[in-house]
Amino acid sequence: MKWLLRRCTRCGRYTLRRDKCPVCGGPVRVPHPPRFSPEDRYIRYRYLMKKQSGEIPE
Ligand SMILES: [Zn+2]
Repeated sequence: MKWLLRRCTRCGRYTLRRDKCPVCGGPVRVPHPPRFSPEDRYIRYRYLMKKQSGEIPE
């Protein structure tokens, strides 16, 4: 799923517009861009290691 909601950097309003804020015309940006989390990767890695070592049953 794509992140559709954007936030105006000038007035702070949320909008679905991608070019500019419909209220004040200010620039908009994605407030919480979906990004890769190194922590999640670490947890996943630990889980796989435990599974391989037999700590977690299938
Ligand atoms: Zn605005």
